Amino acid sequence: MTLWVTFRMPENNMRFSTRAIHAGQPPEPLTGAVNVPIFLSTTFAQASPGKSKGFVYGRTGNPTRAVLERTIAELEGGKAGLAFSSGLGALVTLVESIGSRQRIVAIDDVYGGTWRLLDHHHRKFGVDVEFVDMTRIDSIRAALARARTDLVYLESPTNPLLRVVDIRAISRLSHAAGAHVAVDNTFATPALQRPLELGADIVLHSTTKYLGGHSDVLGGALAFRDPRLARRFAWLQNTVGAVPSPFDSFLILRGIHTLGIRMRAHEASARAVAEVLERSSKVRATYYPGLASHPQHRIARRQMSGFGGMVSFELANAGAAGRFARALRIFTLAESLGGVESLADHPASMTHASVPPEIRRARGVRDGLIRLSCGIEDPADLADDVGRALRRV
Ligand SMILES: *Cc1c(COP(=O)(O)O)cnc(C)c1O
Repeated sequence: MTLWVTFRMPENNMRFSTRAIHAGQPPEPLTGAVNVPIFLSTTFAQASPGKSKGFVYGRTGNPTRAVLERTIAELEGGKAGLAFSSGLGALVTLVESIGSRQRIVAIDDVYGGTWRLLDHHHRKFGVDVEFVDMTRIDSIRAALARARTDLVYLESPTNPLLRVVDIRAISRLSHAAGAHVAVDNTFATPALQRPLELGADIVLHSTTKYLGGHSDVLGGALAFRDPRLARRFAWLQNTVGAVPSPFDSFLILRGIHTLGIRMRAHEASARAVAEVLERSSKVRATYYPGLASHPQHRIARRQMSGFGGMVSFELANAGAAGRFARALRIFTLAESLGGVESLADHPASMTHASVPPEIRRARGVRDGLIRLSCGIEDPADLADDVGRALRRV
């Protein structure tokens, strides 16, 4: 590509919030537009057959999308990025780029849709998937020793139990076994955690969540440490075609501009809510990596610069989840997360309903579990809302 989107910004040594607004996004040189224009054209003129200015056809490449891809790569500390129409669109392309008849070792606490895609869909195409508890380094070592593994796939913090795993240690073990490592960084975002700097090869995002940040656009992304690996994936991005529209690309970029400040506000909300939950006798367990009581709090402190906006907890009375959800006034009972507005989720019946109940419960996703996406309303109002709903159960 020969347009302005390719040139590397000198801001690499600047801090996150500065880079979120400027990295990969210099003004458009023809008009000086400060924000990237939404290029709707699906095709681009060629001077002579095969001679383009870098863009040929909208599925293969689009200037607005290219700026988004550049920006996500820069923020993750990567060399290349690819954008998709959803997080799962990114995941399909990721898994299929690694190859057929491959073996994947995946973390056992994953987003329900990820579980469904790997376990129900990719298995049909000869992909062998083993889910393991990666908080125990022995179990990942054993899984890698069992058979040649192509891809190690993990989330940290996990969805919905907010477990944290040691990305550096897992990357080292996986690489020694010849496997690529991909990290779903949707919950932490590059504002708080950069897996490529900890040794991972690929980062995946559902940009629908914090990167978009306003619950008004679906999207996904991959970022890569090695541009050669990215080229293989770009081929499949074009071949499969799960690409975002130019307008969606623009909206996600617009969201990214405020990511740094939003993540700080999300964290203030989550902390206020987690403290109310931890003090309540109605709550059996509170899961928030920022609490000193969290089992992996030390790893979280080491590999994250903040603990994010997601909090999960288990009600002592498992049958009261419905009553709790109905008593909330500010939190809306809805799937998804990462928007400015607070949302509550009952994983067993909503986001993780596609995981069979016996597997779900064995992994700790029980019927009394509630997941909260703490928005950027006033933290005191959110804490009051949760406190009031707890008094009703
Ligand atoms: C939502 C989500 C996904 C899937 O992304 P979509 O944009 O909904 O396709 C993947 N991973 C995590 C952690 C998510 O929260």
